[in-house]
Amino acid sequence: MMPLIRLKEIVKRYGEILALNRLNLEVNRGEILAVLGPNGAGKTTLLKIIAGIEEPTSGEIYYNDSIINKGFSSFIRQRCTMVFQRTIVFNTTVYNNIAYGLKIRRRSKAEIDKRVHEALRIVKLEGYEKRNAKKLSGGEQQRVSIARALVLEPEILLLDEPTANLDPRTTSIIEEVIRYVNRELETTVLIATHNIFQVGNVADRAAFMLNGRVIESGPLKDLLNKPSLKIADFTRLENVFHGIAKPLSTGTSIIDIGDSIYIEAAFEKTGPVTVFIQPEDIIVSKKPIESSARNIIKGRIIEIIDHGPIIRLKVDTGKIFTAQITRQSFKDMNLNIGSEIYLVYKASSVSLL
Ligand code: ATP
Repeated sequence: MMPLIRLKEIVKRYGEILALNRLNLEVNRGEILAVLGPNGAGKTTLLKIIAGIEEPTSGEIYYNDSIINKGFSSFIRQRCTMVFQRTIVFNTTVYNNIAYGLKIRRRSKAEIDKRVHEALRIVKLEGYEKRNAKKLSGGEQQRVSIARALVLEPEILLLDEPTANLDPRTTSIIEEVIRYVNRELETTVLIATHNIFQVGNVADRAAFMLNGRVIESGPLKDLLNKPSLKIADFTRLENVFHGIAKPLSTGTSIIDIGDSIYIEAAFEKTGPVTVFIQPEDIIVSKKPIESSARNIIKGRIIEIIDHGPIIRLKVDTGKIFTAQITRQSFKDMNLNIGSEIYLVYKASSVSLL
């Protein structure tokens, strides 16, 4: 399939600073692409270049396989809308905020009215038309910003850290909005974030950036299931442990990760290794259950992180593990900070990075 946008060897310099360093990336029509990477990797700069807000210092940009370097900005600005990380709403009503882009494009009153109401419906802010946007909560302001982008009916929606620092309910509304515009309006969506878990529910594919380049890309599921060492290091992945492996006669290995903690893994290795266990692969139990799983460890809950229908538990076993359970299981088990629990996981859930 022909990519919608292809960036070839893009360089962006700000004086001495090389923000993008010969970056290559393809964006497919209709996909939700996560742009991952640590602070300063160049994610925002990449989004600004795609949005036509910044011009690249050098490199080529293709739209539907036609090169469009000259006059790229005005061409692409009609097709892309970017929502910035730090939302700035105007000190006027929600309605005026959302209608602004259409007014300057001289759309008719009737069309503006129709589109503003449709956008308010999508971001679940119906009835907020007359409220002052500046007086809304951070999450509501973020939804106003998204609505302001949606009324322009962009072909590509670029979101910079859209759910950073938002509560779980607002996060799930924004995730729903992203899925809706992608599915119903066929909008291609790019989401820049440093946190892989903030896009796990929505993105199809991910491009991982480091030092101004895309160093890895592929289906997000694959990156989450078997992340590379670089991704594990930079995306604040939990349950990444370094240790020394010794093969057992059973075809598995036992890994000493320190503090008298051992992990049994379904591979044969000798020497230093780094392993990863998906939080959702760990079973949480209040009693030491009988199971065929090779790993069982006792610990104490030290943090409870609410992700709406999913709860993540940080558990101190001597090493910190993260487990993930449904809200219902969390309630049924009556768990609290300090609760003693057992973590159970299979040797085959331990992947070698
Ligand atoms: P963050 O997650 O912190 O926003 P990022 O991955 O989005 O990081 P960018 O904001 O694209 O990274 O920044 C990439 C590099 O370019 C950084 O070193 C940054 O300081 C620099 N940079 C970005 N914009 C400018 C600018 N307008 N002038 C000078 N340097 C800039």
